[in-house]
Amino acid sequence: MSSQRTTILIIGAGPTGLAVAISLVKQGFHDIIIVEATVSRGDASRAITIHAATLEALDSVGCADVLIDQGIKGAAIQASDRNRPLLGAEFAHLAPYTKYPFVLLLPQNDTERILEDYLKELNVEVLRPEKAVGLQLNNHGELDVSFESGKVITAQYVIGADGARSVIRQLAGASFADPDGTPVDEQVVQMVLADVSFSSASTHLPTDKLQGILSDGKAFLISPLPKSSDSNSSPRYRIGFNVPTTSGPPPPNPPTSYIQKYLDEQGPTQLSSDSSVNPEPIYISDTIWSTRFRTHAAIADKFLIRMGTTSAAAGQKRGIVLLVGDAAHIHSPVGGLGMNLGLRDAISLGPVLAAHASSDDTTLPEHDRLLEEHVATRYERALSTIGLTKRFMSMVMILGTTKILRHLFKFIGMVPFVKRYMAWNVSGLGAR
Ligand SMILES: Cc1cc2nc3c(=O)[nH]c(=O)nc-3n(C[C@H](O)[C@H](O)[C@H](O)COP(=O)(O)OP(=O)(O)OC[C@H]3O[C@@H](n4cnc5c(N)ncnc54)[C@H](O)[C@@H]3O)c2cc1C
Repeated sequence: MSSQRTTILIIGAGPTGLAVAISLVKQGFHDIIIVEATVSRGDASRAITIHAATLEALDSVGCADVLIDQGIKGAAIQASDRNRPLLGAEFAHLAPYTKYPFVLLLPQNDTERILEDYLKELNVEVLRPEKAVGLQLNNHGELDVSFESGKVITAQYVIGADGARSVIRQLAGASFADPDGTPVDEQVVQMVLADVSFSSASTHLPTDKLQGILSDGKAFLISPLPKSSDSNSSPRYRIGFNVPTTSGPPPPNPPTSYIQKYLDEQGPTQLSSDSSVNPEPIYISDTIWSTRFRTHAAIADKFLIRMGTTSAAAGQKRGIVLLVGDAAHIHSPVGGLGMNLGLRDAISLGPVLAAHASSDDTTLPEHDRLLEEHVATRYERALSTIGLTKRFMSMVMILGTTKILRHLFKFIGMVPFVKRYMAWNVSGLGAR
């Protein structure tokens, strides 16, 4: 059985874990180990949106430009009915407040690859495959993390960046539940996402905006994706839609025929394959990646756990578990906020944690206070983001089912203040 020792051990090399590691190293703190359960990075495209506040955070650790180089600068998130625009967040309105007045559209696997390469340039390699299975306080008040391989790593701090099913969260004894207990509406609880290409070009395919189509309790989204590195490949698009529970569960990796059916029923009429409604029908020619999932919201009851002590016994630099990203909070993907929240948790934690871990007896109480404050702020940010996504979901339902309201929102959506307000909220700039 091999054993290793470090000051800070990061469990999980998803976007959040990678960003914590980068942020710590950028603070000059190198005594870290980052481990990942999987052998290699998967092809799950998942999050495609990186908002302005997150780009600012990424810029502070030197990796915004490289991500922007490989993505698409999205001008808007636009809600429409099947034929015309209703209201939207137009990011150009943010120009006076940020140098990133756009939403960056980039698949999550590309984001992770770029962050991991950047971390490598900073001389930190992810240890993989190492799956954490145990967490115990040892006699010295430190944490022993055991792995499926038999390895044990002893650390003063353990960061649980191991996703929604976090083992670290469970082993540290934190609960994970919806903050207000409101269940997700049955109509929108089941979702399908897919990255596809089309049989031919169409001027109705979006080039620089993420479009959400709302009709009769149905939601459908389509967004352009950056071209893949293979120059001969066709343009790719992200598609997403809800599947009412009355229609049964979607198949595990929904095939093209299934996605096409929903596109024809719920998508923009001008992109339908049905020649009876669309004079220039087009078809999905290839499904590059697809997934189904159920959405719900949950938050850990605490993001900071002092193992073996109470918060009154703060003032120690050992036995501390911190939860970040999906391990700490999850919610519906409406608005594309989840990965953004995790990346900002991670990048803002770096300076506070590096200072805490480097403090001496005199400065520790002050750094303890700052760490507690940081965690409380991130908890509030997560709660308000969960609230925002629930409001978005209600709006999707109301707009989707009520024709009169759709007309009303069309007029409200023309007001510049509304466009600015929507962009401000989605971008995260109000709660950096
Ligand atoms: C279908 C889908 C679509 C989404 N779309 C969006 C979007 O458009 N915009 C957005 O902002 N967010 C979106 N999200 C949310 C986003 O994907 C997550 O918020 C993001 O992945 C969280 O990153 P993370 O690093 O916290 O967790 P994860 O990405 O889950 O990473 C956790 C990592 O930890 C590893 N791990 C797990 N257990 C262990 C263990 N025991 N030991 C070692 N390693 C372990 C995992 O293998 C994984 O690599 C979407 C999510 C889903 C599921």
